[in-house]
Amino acid sequence: MANNGFIDKARITVRAGAGGGGAVAFHREKYVAAGGPDGGDGGQGGSIVLRVDEHMSTLMDFRYKRKYVAPDGAPGQGKRCSGKDGEDLLIRVPRGTVVRDTESGEIICDMAGQDTFVLCKGGRGGWGNQHFATPTRQAPHFAKAGLPGQERDVTLELKLLADVGLVGFPNVGKSTLLSVVTRAQPKIANYHFTTLSPNLGVVALDENTSFVLADIPGIIEGAAEGAGLGHDFLRHIDRCRLLIHVVDVSGSEGRDPVEDFEAINAELAEYSPELASRPMIVAGNKVDIAPDRTALEALKAHVEKQGLPFFEMSAAAHQGTRELMWFAAGRLRELPPITVYEPTYVERPLEVDTSEELSIEREDGTWIVDGPWLRQLMANVNFGDYESRNWFERKLRESGVYARLEEMGIQDGDPICLYNLEFEYRK
Ligand code: GDP
Ligand code: MG
Repeated sequence: MANNGFIDKARITVRAGAGGGGAVAFHREKYVAAGGPDGGDGGQGGSIVLRVDEHMSTLMDFRYKRKYVAPDGAPGQGKRCSGKDGEDLLIRVPRGTVVRDTESGEIICDMAGQDTFVLCKGGRGGWGNQHFATPTRQAPHFAKAGLPGQERDVTLELKLLADVGLVGFPNVGKSTLLSVVTRAQPKIANYHFTTLSPNLGVVALDENTSFVLADIPGIIEGAAEGAGLGHDFLRHIDRCRLLIHVVDVSGSEGRDPVEDFEAINAELAEYSPELASRPMIVAGNKVDIAPDRTALEALKAHVEKQGLPFFEMSAAAHQGTRELMWFAAGRLRELPPITVYEPTYVERPLEVDTSEELSIEREDGTWIVDGPWLRQLMANVNFGDYESRNWFERKLRESGVYARLEEMGIQDGDPICLYNLEFEYRK
């Protein structure tokens, strides 16, 4: 969503670095004919790491830069020297950024309750030939390639962290209220559509009582003007624990407060029924310029019939605003904390085309199996996890690689080497 440079949704692709390849090298010393294998391991690829930056308040940085790639690990070298690890790539995001898998829409993480998150893991480096020496294979001439890094297509969404959200028609005095009860300095003007980006402020009532108040662009704002805002900005009050619904009761714009109140509630309900049932306080504003109390009393009666607390105030004259804030603070004490979204994303087994043939070579008695899809597969298997290992084993069988090894004469107990994984063949 782009408005006045305010961006609160962005889609990016991220890729972690690949691991460096392992080295094939042999110890060399003057007067020593042939030394042992001493090829070092490749470095780990850099990961993609998200970090909260408290100074950021929009996702604007992601407007022009959409692709993020972390550096690869360096290849290993002789003398058992490991290659340098690729540095992690830090992506800074504002607090409250929700990260979703673009395709499924599932939540990968919510950068509200945590400061850092590893979004893509760098690929493991390949082993150098030093690891492959055995009593019967003293000069292994092979090392392993590094594994590719994880790759994702994600959508970032900013959902502000505020305890209380202000809702209401444009021009009713939401920004004025925010400016009066906090140090925030939102734009205030006597025309509609002034607020196109959310504003946050801290309401500090006394040493022990404070909360965050957000003034978000109105629901009707923009939509009426065809600015295309629609309900998009409502995501900023998704987390709010309490809403203050501001209604102009002065009649200065020839509006009916009861109608306005219901119209906004209908918009809220359309966006999310859950949001419409969020605890709400109603504030009748601009009483200083109301010709009489008729409209005010009508709204008060209407609202109280629905069981909602009603306050009258003049934000501009600082009348009734403190009472309203104290009441809100009291309500907040009874309400659950700000919502932090639980991840819903489940890592799916990678789709690999196992029909693509693998290369099989025999080196120093070891069966070396290699191929692009195998590399992909191994980069995504968590070998510490039983399910994950099983899936891996199934894919291998399905590819027919064991049948081919049989044909080529593999014997029970022969070593098989798949990248950094070495195991003995069992029929
Ligand atoms: P928003 O669109 O809801 O954020 O409304 P604003 O806070 O920008 O206010 C719109 C206009 O109403 C501005 O000219 C304010 O000065 C004026 N206003 C806000 N609150 C009051 C009030 O209590 N009394 C009077 N007389 N004017 C107000
Ligand atoms: Mg405003």
